[in-house]
Amino acid sequence: MGKLTEEFLKKWEELGYYRRACTLLSWDMYTATPRGGHPGMADAMTFFGTKAFELSTSDAFYHLLKELKDSGEYDALSEGMRFTVRTMLRDLEKDRRIPKEFYRDYLALQSKSMRSWEEAKRSSDYSLFGPDLDGLIRMTKEKCGFTDPGKEPYNVLIDLYEEGMDTDTIDRVFAQLKEGLLPMLEQILAKPQPKSRIYEGTYDPDAQKKVQQLLLEYIGFSFENGTVGVSEHPFTTSFSPRDVRVTNHYYEHDPISSMFSAIHEGGHAIFDQNVDPALADTAAQECPYMGLHESQSRFFENILGRRKSFWVPVYPKIQELLPDLQDISLDEFVQEINHVQCTPIRTQADEVTYCLHIILRYEMEQEIFRGGAKVEDLPRLWNEKTKQYLHFVPENDAQGILQDMHWSDASFGYFPSYLLGSIYDGMFLDAMRADLGDIDSLLENGQIAVVRGWLNEKIHRFGALRLPGEVIKEVCGRPLDAEPLLRYFREKYL
Ligand code: ZN
Repeated sequence: MGKLTEEFLKKWEELGYYRRACTLLSWDMYTATPRGGHPGMADAMTFFGTKAFELSTSDAFYHLLKELKDSGEYDALSEGMRFTVRTMLRDLEKDRRIPKEFYRDYLALQSKSMRSWEEAKRSSDYSLFGPDLDGLIRMTKEKCGFTDPGKEPYNVLIDLYEEGMDTDTIDRVFAQLKEGLLPMLEQILAKPQPKSRIYEGTYDPDAQKKVQQLLLEYIGFSFENGTVGVSEHPFTTSFSPRDVRVTNHYYEHDPISSMFSAIHEGGHAIFDQNVDPALADTAAQECPYMGLHESQSRFFENILGRRKSFWVPVYPKIQELLPDLQDISLDEFVQEINHVQCTPIRTQADEVTYCLHIILRYEMEQEIFRGGAKVEDLPRLWNEKTKQYLHFVPENDAQGILQDMHWSDASFGYFPSYLLGSIYDGMFLDAMRADLGDIDSLLENGQIAVVRGWLNEKIHRFGALRLPGEVIKEVCGRPLDAEPLLRYFREKYL
């Protein structure tokens, strides 16, 4: 091993330990730490986070990366390590162009605006958040100018969350989806809707935990390389493909919520657990492309988890664990989990109206970053679009423009990746059918492992190595297209 490689691997290992400490502290903080222990944990996280930041942004480390990249040693590195060196160097070069003072002010404004957003949402008073939002938008544009001079700011932001994607492509597929979806929604809503909340009752959280265990085992989550915890909002966190953790939240009066969170987070986890072991402990061991990652959680949650065939092998076992479900037939259950309704909150929306929630947010961000909309006009614009797409006006701003936290910490450009995930799913389903035939008969016969194996083989094992656009091209053999998702909705709901 060359001298530069040796030096780099030593630093990379050190950085890995700091990051592991941060991840572990954060996992503990969300799942186990009592309220009184939070400040101590937060201090420790700041300590290790600062160490990691100092190491990874130091001049010495930058020059080491640069030297290694330009040396003959680079080609001898493993594929995962070449990815690590290449992407770290690229990101560092961008970040080094941001003036330190500016960056400090930007972070300070973010923590201020996260608090003002919370307060504004609690009291449903947009004016408490508006001025900070204005500052965030201005500074985010400025930051894009530093990192990617000459590139349009909104495209820089999209690229942060879904690398290689651009507004031209998103404009095209979102427009296609909107055009198909708006009349389709009218048609779906005109049909008689099944009765809602047939599962009313009290469901023991411990029994719900057992259901989660059952569902995770069923979809193929590895308990050898994974574990579960409880938190306020469900999430997935990964240390390596061998240690992937999911959380859940159990509501006494709603057993469906924890079932679908189990499947959704399980889908994220299955992605992380099935990355090629050769990529472990490199930057490629986890897929950083939000849309692609989300496509896998949603494939399990929606494409598989909302079809009857998925439940055939497990529903009787779930009824045993949750006796209140015994009076509800499988058909009734499947109807219940496939309600289409126009509701105000994005995170609670069904798979059809969810698309419109995201299109609305994408269009708002377009107005902000490309159209120059004024911050004080945003609530009105939001409500107009809600009326236009979902046929109601939010009762207040807490149920409208203030509902999501994304803008409060300047995560502009994040929203479209959720919907890109669903659009990918429509295409993946087509490709999967072409390879495996009828998915329903596989599921009904308890062969979900075949479906999972296909996803492992085509998508998961590459980790971060393939960009979303490359995955789509390799797996589906054609450019991004919203038609398969539209067809999936049409076949299912009309
Ligand atoms: Zn997710």
